[in-house]
Amino acid sequence: MRYGIFADIHSNLEAYEAVLEAMRAERLDSYVCAGDIVGYGADISRCIELTKAITGNVICGNHDQASAGRLDTRYFNPGARGAVSWTAKRLNEAERQYLSDLKLTYDGADFTVVHGSLDEPDKYHYILDVNAALRNFQMMRKKLLFIGHTHRPIVYKRKGEDVSVTTDREVRLEKDSSYIVNAGSVGQPRDGDPRAAYVVYDNRENVIQIKRVSYDVKKAQEKILVAGLPPHMAERLGYGQ
Ligand code: ZN
Repeated sequence: MRYGIFADIHSNLEAYEAVLEAMRAERLDSYVCAGDIVGYGADISRCIELTKAITGNVICGNHDQASAGRLDTRYFNPGARGAVSWTAKRLNEAERQYLSDLKLTYDGADFTVVHGSLDEPDKYHYILDVNAALRNFQMMRKKLLFIGHTHRPIVYKRKGEDVSVTTDREVRLEKDSSYIVNAGSVGQPRDGDPRAAYVVYDNRENVIQIKRVSYDVKKAQEKILVAGLPPHMAERLGYGQ
């Protein structure tokens, strides 16, 4: 099977359409969305519709849960909190219910998906270093975990007691190792590369590929400005931050 795994769309329709088109062109077998369909961007409804249309394998991100009114935003930074309340006001009842019903984890045949961290998935901790990765490796029941949340594509590898990290675009999975793969972000990359990110996992060839796709950043930025969202939400898309 070849899986398309993607996260953090954040209501960026232009980025999402580019990723969906790229994934379709690769004729992948199955898709998993690792959360945060909404928040930050302007196109809430269309991004929810496209997600529903492509897969039922969707988990909840902190923005999805908060926008549905099910997560306290006290610990969100002011920009994220503003985006959540902007989004919450614009969700219709069916959309709110859809986001509110999303599960916190997804279990595939040989992998698990969670938005932030296996350690208290409902608290959305960030895996930002080898120590946080190690805590997650210790909790993994499968050899492969896909995450999003940091908006930075990266792969952690555990072999014995050794945890290493790589930003290589292609990683060959070794039998005696476990991996945590951050799929990066479709709609708001933060690794300095403004292109949309997603991951292809081929479980026959045992390969992970981190893919990047260019999209119409200007159009997404204009929509954010016209919607009255903070200009910073538009600017950051230009630098991938
Ligand atoms: Zn996010």
